[in-house]
Amino acid sequence: MEGKQVTRRLVLVPVPAQGHITPMMQLAKILYLKGFSITVVQTKFNRFIPTDDFIDVHFVTIHESLPESDFKNLGPIRFLLKLNKECQVSFKDCLGQLLLQQSNEISCIIYDEFMHFAEAAAKEFNLPNVIFSTQSATAFKCRSMFGKLYANNVLAPLKGPKEQQEELVPEFYPLRYKDFPVSRFASLESVMEVYRNSVDQRTASSVIINTATCLESSSLNFLQHQRLEVPYYHIGPLHMVASAPTSLLEENMSCIEWLNKQKVNSVIYISLGSLALMEINEVMNMASGLAASNQYFLWVIRPGSVPGSEWTESLSDEFSKMVSDRGYIVKWAPQKEVLAHPAIGGFWSHCGWNSTLESISEGVPVICRPFSGDQKANARYLECIWKIGIQVEGEMDKGSVERAVKRLMVDEEGQEMRKRAVSLKEKLRASVISGGSSHNSLEEFVHFIRSL
Ligand code: UDP
Repeated sequence: MEGKQVTRRLVLVPVPAQGHITPMMQLAKILYLKGFSITVVQTKFNRFIPTDDFIDVHFVTIHESLPESDFKNLGPIRFLLKLNKECQVSFKDCLGQLLLQQSNEISCIIYDEFMHFAEAAAKEFNLPNVIFSTQSATAFKCRSMFGKLYANNVLAPLKGPKEQQEELVPEFYPLRYKDFPVSRFASLESVMEVYRNSVDQRTASSVIINTATCLESSSLNFLQHQRLEVPYYHIGPLHMVASAPTSLLEENMSCIEWLNKQKVNSVIYISLGSLALMEINEVMNMASGLAASNQYFLWVIRPGSVPGSEWTESLSDEFSKMVSDRGYIVKWAPQKEVLAHPAIGGFWSHCGWNSTLESISEGVPVICRPFSGDQKANARYLECIWKIGIQVEGEMDKGSVERAVKRLMVDEEGQEMRKRAVSLKEKLRASVISGGSSHNSLEEFVHFIRSL
């Protein structure tokens, strides 16, 4: 074998959900371009079908037995618990096979922080492992502190009356209790069980986070000085470093042609990501608010995202007539292209972390309507820290939709936010180019895994 260069192999384990698959696949592409061989281990549930962009990546599917209905019936938190139990043995078998079959030695397992079954298998085979947090550093900080705060009863107001939930959580500014990343679909005990397996209980070789210092310096500082005992790297936003199609659903490209016909900054893009659901009455109020706002809009309504309705049946003919020349509705959009389009002047978002990063990286201000998990913390950052967001809280009626859309798209306030969003976009761009903080951190991470 003298003279033959051995390529090091990395095994990547994403959570089977759009918002987690996307950053993991971006990481796969980046690390492949840095000279590593990549194996992605996926579950049968929500499997990503690789496009030609991933021709050099090796995909393996483990055959856990999770029916599609489980996600809907259990909700994300209990589903994650079940997924981790189901995958434990099959992943160990899969890793054993990979070690036998593959000529390249496995350098390390990089797994989504919620796929902690991968850590147990890595330990068994004596392989280094890296935790990849695909959400914000702030959400990671909350999760890593959850056990301690829960045990000390600091999080009791989460179960308390409404007024208590409005109070700020000490040392977590600007988060109020109601913004703390817990699921609205699961008990605190189940959340605790998922987070118990989070970073503070484990001994990973390092942690990587899809964020940048210009966005979250205080949370990153906290993690570095008070929480993490292993090297950590803030390497994001990864979509600005490597982009490749990673959509589980088919993107409707016709909306780009429609946007091409619209004026600069004249359209608000509305999308609630891949998981959030909307009540029928919320959809109807959204429609009447949009109609009353007189603004142009591109609206993603995912089939199945409105329980009790297939797609757009809840929208009246009157609404369709009223907005026929200034509204466009699709089932799934090419979001990154949409946000980069000059016609887009604002984003009505559920504030998932990918959507948040994608919006900032294009200098687009946001109307925040978070649903669950980390989205509420992201919304607070958009509104209070970066000051490029307007949060719509409480009941969403025609008036609140109309007001928020006008504030962002018409008023001076919205224009000021747009300017701040553009300036944040420049900072973010500077952090991913040569010499920037995320760029340097990514280089250090690559150096670190080469040294394993
Ligand atoms: N997305 C998309 N088209 C859509 C809606 C969403 O491509 O019509 C993508 C979006 O660009 C983002 C991901 O889906 O990368 C959603 O991830 P996010 O973290 O924002 O939210 P989640 O779906 O996890 O709640």
